[in-house]
Order: sequence, then structure tokens, then C-alpha cells
Amino acid sequence: MAKIIDGKAFAEGLRGRIAKAVDVLKSKHGFTPGLAVVLVGEDPASKVYVANKAKQTVEVGMNSWEHRLPAETSEKDLLAMVERLNADPAVDGILVQLPLPKHIDSTKVLTAIAPAKDVDGFHVVNVGKLSTGQDSLVPCTPVGSVMLARDVLGKLDGVEAVVIGRSNIVGKPVAQLLLAENCTVTIAHSRTKDLPGVVRRADLVIAAVGRPEMVKGDWLKPGATVIDVGINRIERDGKGKLVGDCDFASCEKVAGAITPVPGGVGPMTIACLLYNTVKAACAARGINQPEM
Ligand code: NDP
Repeated sequence: MAKIIDGKAFAEGLRGRIAKAVDVLKSKHGFTPGLAVVLVGEDPASKVYVANKAKQTVEVGMNSWEHRLPAETSEKDLLAMVERLNADPAVDGILVQLPLPKHIDSTKVLTAIAPAKDVDGFHVVNVGKLSTGQDSLVPCTPVGSVMLARDVLGKLDGVEAVVIGRSNIVGKPVAQLLLAENCTVTIAHSRTKDLPGVVRRADLVIAAVGRPEMVKGDWLKPGATVIDVGINRIERDGKGKLVGDCDFASCEKVAGAITPVPGGVGPMTIACLLYNTVKAACAARGINQPEM
């Protein structure tokens, strides 16, 4: 049976180290890092995410600003808000919660965020830096996924990794991070031929597909490490349930280690957002980042 990778506990530990780093920044350098989150509209899931982000930001001792704008906010007004946050020296990180209402061009808004404050790591400047091996702000879920893989496997040098999914938010940045860790990386997607055969080559599988329980145990190389990024809401036995992209019951019999859903990658995302905010705050002031 596979070792269950406890992302909740790992994220808690990381938040503890971030809180200590924030203390050092306050006491030795005299400033408090701050994160501004912008939410447009009333999407219920987004409201929960934003509330959790704000709560955890405050818990690690940072400043948190929530800007809630009505669904009918114009693109021009949202861009003006982003510009104000770009210019505010107290704001180290800016996150515009996605999805945005349909009348607003998300790419335009994300591109308006100053790359140095882009704690989601979606700005094309940060994407370009990541893919050319320069230090950058990297998307949170990919960073969290790779932290968990490193925690299980130690050094990732030479590890045969298969990433399933090629989105800009998860698949591609995960693959870039693994490449930077010297893995041999294959990126699979909806046009991949013989997906089970490709996955069976992997010592490390990272699934970011959005298809409930798609990856089966008999697709895995025995002992493989499985990081399941998927979060899918399904109905089972008349009840709502969250499941990953991997069929946990069959995969845990074959894998060496596996993340559960919920409680695996999910909790890492906000912890890595806080990590990125501290990183951005230190870079903005030209000081060395405390150990986290
Ligand atoms: P996208 O829908 O943007 O991308 C899905 C990817 O999976 C695409 O590249 C697609 O291929 C590929 N894919 C779809 N169907 C198949 C298939 N049958 N076989 C192989 N590949 C397939 O999703 P995201 O990357 O945004 O998210 C992926 C999952 O991760 C979702 O469940 C999401 O909820 C979750 N997630 C979790 C987060 C967290 O833990 N905090 C954060 C972000 C996402 P193609 O490109 O060819 O279409």
C-alpha cells in the first residue's frame, strides 16, 4: 500500500516557516509584507477561495486587503484598480481571482499586473523567466506539487516524470519546474496516444487533467510517486464528493506514495501564494529572503 502524502500537514509546516520569516522581516527590516486580492462578482467558489486566502495571509502575520467589486465592474475600472495596487508600495503581491466575468479580458488584466507583484506567476514575463531558467514568481499549485514530490523523493535528478495536462496554470509550469530539477519530462494531453503506456514509464506522475478518477492503478509503474492535482466534484451514493484525477482506490495499491484528494495538493496552493508574497516583498526591497 502506498504512503499517503499529507499535503495538509506539509502546508501547515510551510505556513509556520513563512510566519517566522514574516517575523524576521518585521523585526529586522521594519516592514510587513502585504497581499491584495481582487474579486469581481459573486462566484460562490471564488468567494470561499478569497476568504481563505485572506484568513491565512493574516494568520502568518502579513497585511491582507480584499477588494470586492460588483460583477458589472467594467474592464477599465478593474484595470485602474490594478494600476493603483501596482503603484502602492505597501502592496507586495496582487492576485486577481479567476474566473473573471465574461465581459472582461482576463489576459489583459493579468498582463496589467506588475510582474514583480504577480504572485500567481501568470504574467508572461514570469512565464518567460521560468522557461528560460531565471528566478521568477512561479504559479502556486505547480510549486506546491513539486515541493511534495521533492519531500517524498529527495533530489529529483534523472527521475522519469510524466505530467498529464498542459494548461498554462498547472501542466506547463509543473513540467518546467521538473525540468529545472533535472527530471526527464514527458507532457501528456488529450491527443496523447496510449496514455496508460506513457504513464507506466513514470517514476513520478503528476495528474492535472480535470477528469474524475481517470488514472487507474494498472497504468502505474509499481512504486511510482503520484501527485494528483485534480479537484473534481462528483455525486456518489446520492452525496457530493471531491475526487482527484486518479482513481485513489486502485492507485494506492500500486503506487509507492500518493496524494489524497482532498488533503494533498489543494492545501499547498495558498501556502505557496504566501511564500510568493514574501519572496516578492524581499525582492522589491533588495533584501535576502529569510529561510522558509
Ligand atoms: P485545464 O482544463 O486547463 O487543462 C486540462 C488538461 O488536461 C489539458 O491540457 C487537456 O489536454 C488535458 N486532458 C483533458 N482530457 C484528457 C484526457 N482524456 N487524457 C489526457 N489529457 C487530457 O485544467 P487545469 O490545468 O486548470 O486543472 C486541472 C485540474 O487541476 C482540475 O481538476 C482543476 O480543478 C485542478 N486544479 C487544482 C488546483 C489546486 O489544487 N489548488 C489549482 C488548479 C487546478 P488538451 O490540452 O489537449 O486539451
